[in-house]
Formats: sequence, C-alpha cells, structure tokens
Amino acid sequence: MCPPAETNGTNGHVNGTVNGTNGNHEGYSAIQTNQNPHPHSSSPYRPVGDFLSNVSRFKIIESTLREGEQFANAYFDLEAKMKIAQALDDFGVDYIELTSPAASEQSRLDCEAICRLKNEKFKTAKILTHVRCHMDDARIAVETGVDGVDVVIGTSSYLREHSHGKDMTYIKNTAIEVIEFVKSKGLEIRFSSEDSFRSDLVDLLSIYSAVDKIGVNRVGIADTVGCASPRQVYDLVRTLRGVVHCDIETHFHNDSGCAIANAYCALEAGATHIDTSVLGIGERNGITPLGGLMARMIVADRDYVLSKYNVKKLKEIEDMVADYVEVNIPFNNYITGFCAFTHKAGIHAKAILNNPSTYEIINPADFGMSRYVHFASRLTGWNAIKSRADQLDLQMTDAQIKLCTAKIKALADVRKIAIDDTDSIIRAFYHNLHSQEERPLLEGLSAEEVKKFQIAEEKEKAELTGTKEKRQLEEQVEAEAEVPATKKTRTAAVA
Ligand SMILES: [Zn+2]
Repeated sequence: MCPPAETNGTNGHVNGTVNGTNGNHEGYSAIQTNQNPHPHSSSPYRPVGDFLSNVSRFKIIESTLREGEQFANAYFDLEAKMKIAQALDDFGVDYIELTSPAASEQSRLDCEAICRLKNEKFKTAKILTHVRCHMDDARIAVETGVDGVDVVIGTSSYLREHSHGKDMTYIKNTAIEVIEFVKSKGLEIRFSSEDSFRSDLVDLLSIYSAVDKIGVNRVGIADTVGCASPRQVYDLVRTLRGVVHCDIETHFHNDSGCAIANAYCALEAGATHIDTSVLGIGERNGITPLGGLMARMIVADRDYVLSKYNVKKLKEIEDMVADYVEVNIPFNNYITGFCAFTHKAGIHAKAILNNPSTYEIINPADFGMSRYVHFASRLTGWNAIKSRADQLDLQMTDAQIKLCTAKIKALADVRKIAIDDTDSIIRAFYHNLHSQEERPLLEGLSAEEVKKFQIAEEKEKAELTGTKEKRQLEEQVEAEAEVPATKKTRTAAVA
C-alpha cells in the first residue's frame, strides 16, 4: 500500500517549496557556487561519431495520462488530466498519450476535452491516444480530435495463446487495415507489438517490415514485462533499425530496474522516441520516469535537453502528480529527491565548496534545485562550518573555525544536533572570542550531556592539536627532503 501524501502537499518535506529547494534540510546549508559543473562535456569516455545514435535528437512520448492511469493509486478526473496535460506541454514534451477513448464513455469525453485544450493553449505537445489494433477502437479514436493513434497488439506466444488467441497472419492483416484507415484520416499512426522481448524475432521483423512498407509513422518496441537488459535492447533496436525506415518508439517497464538504462541504450541503437511517465507511474512498478530520463540525458547532451525542455518545471509536475496519486516522492528520486544534491562527509563538503563538479555530474541549478552541505553532524568538516559562519556574517580565522568545528563535532557525539543548535554554537563561540563574559555554547544540556560533551571535546581538541603537530612534522620532513633534491639538481646542472 502506498503511503498517503502529506496534507501540505510537499511530499514529506515540511518546508518544501515548489521552486528552488528540495524540501526541508534540517542541519544543512544551501550553498551557491560560481563554478560551472559540467565536467561530462569533456569526458574521455564520450562516444564519437556514432551514426546510429539518437541520444542528441530524441523525442518524448509522455504517457502519465495513459500508462500512468494504470498505476494502482491513480484516479485522474478531467480537471486533474487537464492540469497534468497543460504542465507537460509547459515542460515541452513532444507528445502526450491518453487512455483509449474506447475504454469508457468518460475516457472518450476526457480525450476530446484535452484535444480542445491543446488547440487553445498548447505550444508544443501533440496528442496521441493508445488503442488496441482493432477497427472498432480505431474508428472511435480518429473522431476525438487527436493528432495520432498508437495501436498495439500482443505478439508473444504468451499473449497469442492466453490473451487474444490470434495468429501472426491475422495480426498482420488487421494491422494493415487499421493503419491504412488511420492514415486515410490524415493522422499519425504508430504500430507496436506488446511484450516484444518475448516475441519471435522473425515474426517481429516481418510484421514491422510490412507496416513500414505501407507508411506507418512509427513502430514500437515494448518491454511490457520489464525483462529486457540494456544489451538485449541495443541488439533488438539496432537490428530493427536495419529493417525499417520509419521512426522507432520504445516503452520500458521497470520490473528489473533497467527502464532508464534501456531507454538510453535504445536511443544509442537508433530509437527515436521514448515513452515516459511522471515519477515512472504505471502498471505494476511502472516505466521510465520522466525525471530519471532527464537526469540521464542531461549528462549525455546538456545543450539539447536545455534547449528543448523546460526542466525547471520538473519538480512542480512531480509534486502535482504525487499529490494526485497520493504517494511521497522517494528520498533518492532523480534530481528532485530529498538528498539528490546533498553532501555530508567533510571531505566531500570541502571539495563541493571549492568546485561542485568534484562530486556532482548534474548541476542542480539547471533544474532550479539547490545543493546542500550538511554541517550539523559528527562527519562535518571545518570548510562547511566556515561556509556557514560566512552565511551568518561571523568572520573568524581558520584556526578559530577549526576549534569551533571541534566543539560542534563533540556535541554531535553527545546528541543529534539541528541547524539551530549549530548556529547557536557558532554564535556563542564567536561571542566568547570577543567578550569577557563567557556564554554557554548550548543551553539546556543535562549534567550527563555536559560531562559527555567535555570528554568528547577533549578528544576533538587533542585530535586537532595532533593534526597540527602531525602537519608541522610533515612540513619539516618535506623541507628536509627538498635539500638533497636541490643539491642533486645543482650537481646535474654543473655536470
Ligand atoms: Zn506499459
């Protein structure tokens, strides 16, 4: 059972806001840096000259209002559908796929209403509807005002035996009839098999070749049961690319955790369109998530992604859909998760403060998100505390900051400390540096906590002094080591 959404609509983050933050980060500091963290643009592993790849020219078929309606918790009324469709168009998706108008009378009315909305307000998205490969469904679909029809039929032996019971000749003849009918109405048409990765390869290629010859706009490969691996996807799409001239759409379920990797491999092998849904919602545990695909693609081709998609809208759309289907956004969600851009270990924090690219492949600012550095824990480092003191406008020397950090770490060993506690300690420490009157670092500690704190503080101070002594020793060793090297150079120069 899915956990209920928070009533304040922020998906578990008390102070979450729509733009600019990834929820409430108690004990963390949002930091801004000037460096441009896009190291991947010069990655030595970047492929060159791959003529098959469509990684830099893919299109999105957004299926939250079709596949997403099949999610266990989903119930979208017309108002919800209109809001989601408008948000997806604002985001810049290429297509929005809707539930079959043959599914129910309300589905048909909703489909017509969204087509009207598109005509009045949409900037980029075209509307598709997804129907069975059957003339009855196709006749209803073409009357709704959609731009295109996606037809699907099961081709695996499981589906042929246990679902519709039709042989390949029947499937091919029906497909041709439906495709020609939809084309005669001037609409786009896609033909897809279902459960493609458990279908016979010869059957698949033969039917795709037949529909390609009569002018289908796209053929679809669907990993309906989520069994495919990236390598299988690459092989099948590349083989299909050699057989058909039309576009290739792909649809990946996430049962075995490969939905994003499979989408990426499909593009590398020559697929042109990827099906997504917001947060990946769909049948069972869903399909390639829109946000996850954006994370993958911005690493591959940032310029293409940012020129085409309004990715700063991602969090807003995810929050909206999460509320409608009453789920929380997972803490580790791509881009928008609570800790997607949060750094805790002292060594990470130091590098992030110097240059975020050291530990980040994606720039949170591209998505309107913030990066956070944790500074209220026993793992904190003095660079993070220095950054926080700067934010609080308390100027201290590095040595003072290090001593202050030792006290914060000692306190974090005694009890869990919140951001307010850390700020109090930094402020009290600063006050004590400049005043005769000694202020306690933290109010409200029990006698036992004070005792523990003093012991921990002694250890931290000893460590600090030890580090200092160690560094002096190392410097001395280095200085001594330089002498013979210099002598040697001189000797070499003389010789
Ligand atoms: Zn599906």
